[in-house]
Amino acid sequence: MGLALAQARLALPDVPIGAVVLDETGEVIASAYNRREVDGDPTAHAEILALREAGVARGRWHLGGCTLVVTLEPCTMCAGALVLARIDRVVFGAWDPKTGAAGSVRDVTGDGLLNHRVEVRGGVLEEDCGVMIKEFFAEKRAARKAARLAERDGA
Ligand code: ZN
Repeated sequence: MGLALAQARLALPDVPIGAVVLDETGEVIASAYNRREVDGDPTAHAEILALREAGVARGRWHLGGCTLVVTLEPCTMCAGALVLARIDRVVFGAWDPKTGAAGSVRDVTGDGLLNHRVEVRGGVLEEDCGVMIKEFFAEKRAARKAARLAERDGA
């Protein structure tokens, strides 16, 4: 999770979310961070980019035996991609009560109607992962407020 957090720090000006993929021996085969704003790509979440890199590293789409570690609970798109990748396990930091799809809002990773289920371990270094995202949004709100005040004051 330390490596995923380090990736998350690289994401600015995007929301700080980082991910790494480990193979069955525990070696890191992919690492990525959220690039949605930077790339102008609605699908450029850290998990998707890390899965793509892991697929290239292994030379195949099937990531059985691998574990994805990410700082925030995956959304519906990313949880769906984890199922499609047939990944064994996802370990995440902060729970996401708004869009989380690994048990919070919905449970795509454990959906018995799908052809693969992903083992989930959430809440790892939850405090560190959550604080980083909360601070990001607090700074964004403060900057917007400052801009509004500056505009009102005719600056
Ligand atoms: Zn996502």
